[in-house]
Amino acid sequence: MKCSKCNAELRKDAKFCSKCGEKVESSTKTTTEKAKAVVENKTDTTNTLSLVGFILSIVNIFCCGSLFTPAIVLCIIGLIQINKNGGKGKELSIIGIVLSAFMLLVAIAITIIRTAAGYTSYINY
Ligand SMILES: [Zn+2]
Repeated sequence: MKCSKCNAELRKDAKFCSKCGEKVESSTKTTTEKAKAVVENKTDTTNTLSLVGFILSIVNIFCCGSLFTPAIVLCIIGLIQINKNGGKGKELSIIGIVLSAFMLLVAIAITIIRTAAGYTSYINY
C-alpha cells in the first residue's frame, strides 16, 4: 500500500502516512468490512430448513414416526446450508436428526416387539 499524496510505502494497518501525515483511505478495508458485515448478518439468522426440520421432528414424535423422512431430510439440508453459508440453527438440526433417528429406532423396536409377540402367541396356540 502507498500514500496517495507522497507515494511513500505504508504499513498495512496505517491510518495516516508516516511521512506527510496524509490520511490513508483504504478502500480495500471498507470493502472487507462491508463483506464482513454481510457475513455477520447472515450468521444472525436461523436457518429456516433447520427450524422447520426441528419442528417436524417434534411433531413426528406425536405422529409415531410417520414424519421421519421430511423431518430428517430438512434437518440434514439445513445443516449443510449452515456449514456452507453460516447461520444459526445448527443445534436445532442436530436435535432434529437425533429425535428423528430416535423415533425411527422406537418405531423399529415396536415393530420387532409386535412381530416377536405375534410369533410367540402363534407358537402358544
Ligand atoms: Zn504521504
